[in-house]
Amino acid sequence: MQNMAGFRPSERDPLTWPALKTAPPRTSRRIGIHTSIAGGVDNAAKRAYRLGCNTFQIFSTSPRQWAPYILGRPQCEAMNRLRRDYDLKPLVIHCNYLINLAGANDSFRRKSIATFRGELERGLALCADYLVLHPGSFRGSSREEGLQRVASAIEEAAQGLNLSDGGLNDRGLTLLIENTAGAEFSLGGTFEQVAELLELLRGRVPVGACIDTCHTHVAGYDIVTNDGRDLTLRYLDQTIGFNNVRVWHCNDAKADRGSRLDRHEHIGQGRLGLDVFRALLNDRRLEQAAFIAETPIDDPGDDLRNVETLKKLVDSGHRVQKPRRR
Ligand SMILES: [Zn+2]
Ligand SMILES: [Zn+2]
Repeated sequence: MQNMAGFRPSERDPLTWPALKTAPPRTSRRIGIHTSIAGGVDNAAKRAYRLGCNTFQIFSTSPRQWAPYILGRPQCEAMNRLRRDYDLKPLVIHCNYLINLAGANDSFRRKSIATFRGELERGLALCADYLVLHPGSFRGSSREEGLQRVASAIEEAAQGLNLSDGGLNDRGLTLLIENTAGAEFSLGGTFEQVAELLELLRGRVPVGACIDTCHTHVAGYDIVTNDGRDLTLRYLDQTIGFNNVRVWHCNDAKADRGSRLDRHEHIGQGRLGLDVFRALLNDRRLEQAAFIAETPIDDPGDDLRNVETLKKLVDSGHRVQKPRRR
């Protein structure tokens, strides 16, 4: 994920739009986008609502900074109130990019564990449903050692925290391992590796997976042709299991299949195309998952356009939504 820094011309920040008179149309699928927390985490909920989302993803702190950030109680309460009013669920938090729980370097590992613990604590404070983690880089050791290190680091970071004690939901905070673009030394470039890590983590922390469409494509899986997508999905179910895929990151890809280049593109404008997203959004086997875009904001309004593009792909049969209170 990259290039989601925020709003260039500040007037296009959804927070500055005039108040909505009616609730934006929703679909029966949970569709959202990574949303800026500028001005406070609770502002992300307002932005997500104005963008027409019924789920969203945030960073709970600055994504490229080690400095810890403590959430205030009023901010958490405001976030929960807004999520209830706007029916925004699940709330997904994406971990800081600097964290590498797979690395062999000890001081970096200590720092990563401490920072990851901060992510868990903020996730609990915000009553978030999911925390998405890239499994990391095993450079300097073997892949197998890397996987073992991630699992033990996660267990260590979670010590003494009750992750299954839910706030807004009954399930508590679930850690989601994201599949990656498969760059050299990076863990999670195949579904098996994600599945292996889930297996190691079971019984230690609540876990599931986040599957990114761009990463899947550039890692080499065919999700573009109908036959290829059928095979890839069958394989996903055999390794990770559909029930464990709680979030789909919906990103089109700038780069070719197998290129291992992680460059997100606007929905429908890259190598994947609209049909891929239409197929995933309407697949009954995936209907429990949330679909969240992490698309770039190159021009003002790109966030709204990408959310609306995804929503329009949901078959009309799924589009009916009960009338809402506000
Ligand atoms: Zn990415
Ligand atoms: Zn992603």
